[in-house]
Formats: sequence, structure tokens, C-alpha cells
Amino acid sequence: MIADPRDHADDVHAPSAIAAGIAEAARRIGAASDVLLASHRRPDGDGTGSMAALALLLRARGKRATIFAPDLIPRRYKWLPAAKTAVQRLPADARFDATIVVDCADPKLLGDSMPPEPQRGALITLDHHASGRPFGEVAICDPSAAACAVLVARIAHQLGWDIDADAATGLYVSLISDTGGFRHANTNAEALGLAAHLVERGAQPHVIAQRLEERSTAGKLRLLGSSLSTLELACSGRVALLTVTGDMVDQSGGSWDDTEGFVYWARGVDGVQVGVLITTARGGGVRVSMRSRTDRVDVGAVCMTLGGGGHPGAAGVHLDVDLGSARARVIAALDAALARPQTAPPVTAPPGETA
Ligand code: 5GP
Ligand code: MN
Repeated sequence: MIADPRDHADDVHAPSAIAAGIAEAARRIGAASDVLLASHRRPDGDGTGSMAALALLLRARGKRATIFAPDLIPRRYKWLPAAKTAVQRLPADARFDATIVVDCADPKLLGDSMPPEPQRGALITLDHHASGRPFGEVAICDPSAAACAVLVARIAHQLGWDIDADAATGLYVSLISDTGGFRHANTNAEALGLAAHLVERGAQPHVIAQRLEERSTAGKLRLLGSSLSTLELACSGRVALLTVTGDMVDQSGGSWDDTEGFVYWARGVDGVQVGVLITTARGGGVRVSMRSRTDRVDVGAVCMTLGGGGHPGAAGVHLDVDLGSARARVIAALDAALARPQTAPPVTAPPGETA
């Protein structure tokens, strides 16, 4: 477990701190020859695409790069160049000059299988969650970055590293995952400028879109059906909740990966401002995912009050309670947020996945 998260997010978010962090990260990455790459547990398209691209960029410079994914790379992203090289376990004596963690707002989201400090080398974190607890020797946290690809590209630029077609593909997947295909409010000029650059370098938007297109298995559709039948409205119709339990996954013939995107069915209900997906967690307790439709509710802030975090538009938390208590806590927290006057900042980083 990585200790000592630093609790001075305001300093970390200052443009001068971000620029200095990028320069320092570039210096350390340029000097490293053996690098470990990691992301939060159950990595999404942003984390996976950024790790895959970083691995390729490092290897193209003759460096060793290990993608560490204790939960495996989700099926949806397995086709990514370099994703197949990911490892689930590290040798006990593995040593690295540096570890780069992408898209991870809090060290506790890494799980407990990260190598300890002397083995991992310098810890460099590339993140963009406003609610984060930045950690690491070099902690970059830029909430204006639509996806971690933006931070990886800034570092590559600083190092004068060319981005080849395969690395461009990983970075493009990161971008479209966290911007919802350039539809969400975090889509800005830097994200679109980077996308154009990645296409120049060889990323093929239509091919990538086809690869990510949901080709549902029968099991997934059955699981979606049983989850949709749990639909419940709360907070005067402004919150919709869906549930998935381990039994539902087993009976459907689908998998936990299949639940990615279910939360949008909840958010998509007419009149609903916040969609919630509550799932029983494999290690006990429950996982809660929230997606906000408007800038009316900052779900990152709501999840922080519950012990989790995320972006204004997409957030989550793990609760060590049963489903019923989790439901009650989530509804109470959202009730309180909906009752507050409209002070939430604009939604800046909603989700990537589609239902
Ligand atoms: P998801 O709903 O896809 O699991 O997560 C949505 C967003 O919230 C992601 O950006 C993710 O990093 C963040 N998030 C999810 N769960 C947690 C949590 O337990 N703690 C924190 N700090 N962030 C979380
Ligand atoms: Mn992200």
C-alpha cells in the first residue's frame, strides 16, 4: 500500500505546479530505464489506453516497461497495442527505476498489490480528478485535462518523443473514453487538438470506434435485463438507481465487466439528474457508481462525503455495508446535494463508456 497521500490539492492544481510537475516527470522518465505502469483497480479506457501508450513510448526508446494490471485488462480494451503484455503479478524481487500511476485519484484505489517503495522507484502520478488526494514523489493532477492522455502527450512533447501509430491509438482511446467520444463537458481545445495530432500520427478513429463498439453477448443482455428490472426512482424522480448482485451475474451467464455502462441507463431516465449503479463487491461491501446529467449535482463531491471521489460528472465509492444500507446512504447524500442551492461547478469530466 502506498502511504503518505499529500493533502494540498489546491497547490497541486495550480498551472505553475502542473507545468513544473510535467517537466520533472519528463526528466525522471527520460532518465529511467525500467518503468512500472499502473492504474486504479478495474482500469477503464483512460487508464488502459494511457498505460498502453506509455509502454509503447518507453519501449520505443529502448526502455523496459511493465504494465501491471492485477485485475486483468478488461475484454473491451484487450485489442489495444501492448495491452496483451500486461501482467497480473510481479516477481517478488522486481525492481523499477520509476513507477507511473495513471488516472488514480487516491492511493487506496491501487489495491494492495503494488510493490513497496524501495522496489517501485520514484512514484510519478498522472491524474485529472479534482477530488483527488495527489500522491507520489511527482504528483501531477490537472482537472482541466480531459483524460490522462493529455498529460502523457505533454510529457512526450517535453521529451521530444514522437508518438507512433500504436501509441497514438492508446492515447486516442483514453481521450474518447473520458470525453464520451468528445461529447462531454470536459471536451476542450487541448483534447480536440491532441485528437487531431493523434490522427496525424496514425490513430484511426473509425477503426477504434468499431473496436470499442459494444457487441453484446447474450449473457450481457440478460444481465442488463435483470439489472433494469431493479430500477428504482428516488429523490422525487431526480435519482434513478440500478443494482447488480453476484447472483445476478452468475445467473445471467454474463460477467462483471458487462456492467460497464449500465449506470447510463439509470441516468437516461426522463427527469433524472443522477444515475446510480450499486453492485455487490467481490471482496465484500458494495461499489457505487454515480453519473450526473447536469451541473446541478457534483457527484464527485457527493461521493467524497461518502468516502470516495471522482469527477463532477462521474464518481464512485466503495461502502463496507450491505446493499440496503448503501442504498439508504446514497439516497440521503443525494437528497442533501439536491436540496442545496445550485453552487456546483460545471460538469467537467463525465464518463467515457456508453451503455
Ligand atoms: P466508476 O463509476 O467508473 O467506477 O468511477 C467513476 C469515476 O469516479 C472514476 O473517475 C473513478 O476514478 C472515480 N472513483 C470511483 N470510485 C472511487 C472511489 O472509491 N474513490 C475515489 N476517490 N474515486 C473513485
Ligand atoms: Mn480518467
